[in-house]
Amino acid sequence: MEAAITNLTARGDDVVVVEGGKFGERWKNIAEAFGLKVRSFAIPWGEAPDAAKLASFAAQNKNCRAVFLQANETSTGVAYPVQDIARALRQALPSTLIVVDAISALVAHEMKMDEWGIDCLVSASQKGFGVPPGLAFITLSERANDRLQPRDAFYLNLKKERDNQAKGQTAYTPATTLILSLLTSLELLSQAGPEGCAAHHRRLALACRKAVEAMGLKLFPKSHPSQALTAVEVPAACFSAGLMAKLRERGYIFAGGQDQLKNKIVRVAHLGFVDEYELLGALGAFETSLALSGYRHDLGAGAQAFLKTLATL
Ligand SMILES: *Cc1c(COP(=O)(O)O)cnc(C)c1O
Repeated sequence: MEAAITNLTARGDDVVVVEGGKFGERWKNIAEAFGLKVRSFAIPWGEAPDAAKLASFAAQNKNCRAVFLQANETSTGVAYPVQDIARALRQALPSTLIVVDAISALVAHEMKMDEWGIDCLVSASQKGFGVPPGLAFITLSERANDRLQPRDAFYLNLKKERDNQAKGQTAYTPATTLILSLLTSLELLSQAGPEGCAAHHRRLALACRKAVEAMGLKLFPKSHPSQALTAVEVPAACFSAGLMAKLRERGYIFAGGQDQLKNKIVRVAHLGFVDEYELLGALGAFETSLALSGYRHDLGAGAQAFLKTLATL
């Protein structure tokens, strides 16, 4: 994310960030740290940005250098409609760069960068690729490649990196062990292909949503639920009754909410190399832990809805 900002913008540039959660905030914080004039397109957490409104907001300044957004706002479990957004932005602002943080979206969602007109996409090893943390990926459109202007950076110099890659080298010492892990991951993922991977995660996500709804819980996203994780509203009393500890005791670590969502939601991850029976186990532990935290529901209803949904897909 930092490399995208320091290699594609100059100090004082006008940029727009979509701020609909923790990771939108992260774009804003990095952009401000590197001296950009940031206009924030703020939306309520749990909602997806409207493509047309975002485009007309960004177009209030015709010199807008770049728009930064998430493909998947992991803090709220919302997947933004990146294709629609890119189309609307390109129409309103033909030369503005479109920069997408697809860190948790890649693999779980299809991300047709060239076809959709995305200029820069970033991702990382530890989410959909199921590789330990430590590698970050950045890829540029030809337009973005032509407009590289590395500044305020020594190691994160994409021009230098690009020139070295053309010679089959890297600019500095790479994390070779992680790259070999990534190679193994990509060999496995390529058996299914991007469409197959996205279909697998779409199926898990749909069954997971049906399960939590059958437990009587509400999904946090108002629309556009992510295929990488499911954010679920949980009564505050369950948190004070030790829900998260009960899950941990059963061998499942669920992420809670951050900031304004603390003790309001839990986030069930189903990205990486997760299959339906692992997710069934996690949902079983969730149901039991909820019951032990004083939440009344028909125990097993979630697991049943999960299996029944999968059987229809
Ligand atoms: C995980 C993630 C990141 C990276 O966050 P770290 O705190 O560096 O692990 C960035 N953006 C999104 C959308 C993510 O899900």
